[in-house]
Amino acid sequence: MKVTRIAVWSLDLPLARPYSLSGGRLHVERLDSTVVRLDTDEGLVGWGEGCPWGSTYLPAFARGVRAGIEELAPTVLGLDPRRTAVVHRAMDVALPGHPYVKAPLDMACWDVAAKAAGVPLCDLLGGRTDGRVRLHSSIPTGTPAQMLAEIDLARAQGYTSHSAKIGADVEADIDRMRVIDAQMGPGEQLTFDCNRAWLPAEAIAALQATRDLTRLIEQPCQTVDQHLQVRRRVSQPLALDESLHSYGDMLRIVETGACEAVGLKLGRVGGLTVAAGIRDVCLEAGIQLNIEDTGGTALSATAAVHLAQATPEPFRRATWLCFDQLTTNPIDGGVTNTAGWATAPDVPGIGADPRIDALGDPVATYTSDDR
Ligand code: MG
Repeated sequence: MKVTRIAVWSLDLPLARPYSLSGGRLHVERLDSTVVRLDTDEGLVGWGEGCPWGSTYLPAFARGVRAGIEELAPTVLGLDPRRTAVVHRAMDVALPGHPYVKAPLDMACWDVAAKAAGVPLCDLLGGRTDGRVRLHSSIPTGTPAQMLAEIDLARAQGYTSHSAKIGADVEADIDRMRVIDAQMGPGEQLTFDCNRAWLPAEAIAALQATRDLTRLIEQPCQTVDQHLQVRRRVSQPLALDESLHSYGDMLRIVETGACEAVGLKLGRVGGLTVAAGIRDVCLEAGIQLNIEDTGGTALSATAAVHLAQATPEPFRRATWLCFDQLTTNPIDGGVTNTAGWATAPDVPGIGADPRIDALGDPVATYTSDDR
């Protein structure tokens, strides 16, 4: 089987409500997502998606996805998409780095591979585990009252796990943490996500002042080294996500004991191929995972839920459905938010297919003839 054609679409995805990230680094009202379709000489089609969360969250931006696919298309055309590790290696040789560019192509390869095998994607990623995948909300930063109002909206959608974005002025953060923590009900799970907004001294001050809360604290600072500095001085469990871009990052996290949990985002690490390997390291190291993507429609979210579905309890923590915050849904099938839980579709492949009429015309197509 060979890839014979790569088609690329750009999607404008408005958010239902504006979103502000920790530290005032990001304010986003719409996302720019890139959807790719791989056609093969055997008639099977694979879909993938890459959607950075704005341009300031990670070293990634939406137009960069499409420019990178243009760069990689001659390499991917002609390869067998079922050989996902071979394709990923070829992309790494053709374009070192730039993992977020490779993620949608990698996702489309896995979609073809699972369809060719006649199984749901999760069955190629370790096998479907029992139970459902817990979903977490993403609560934009704001005043405590604003954040509690957002949590109430999430509760109305069934969410029992919340990622509250803090990370600004230390005194204000201490207040936010105490007010929000006090409003959590029995069984509700709460993470305070700083999105690397604190300096180590600020993180130590804020976390020593709130040590009684014992909530998971995500990405308080910029680098792994800074987290190790914080790690020695605080008692709360820590999570890292924005410091995890590669196998090498994961190995260093394990070696140094930098955290108890990680956030694994498909786009940030280069797609399902690398994400599945990092997941396996976490199983060995006893590290819990949130498995999700950086943004996008039900296509990328469903791919991430497949990997979560193939990750045993109690390692899988929760998953975020970006599309729950969008006003449009151009996808047929895929996961749904069922009272705060999701289940990977039980059809061959990812099981989330973009509607051609909703995509419009592709912004680029590459064929074997172009090589
Ligand atoms: Mg985070």
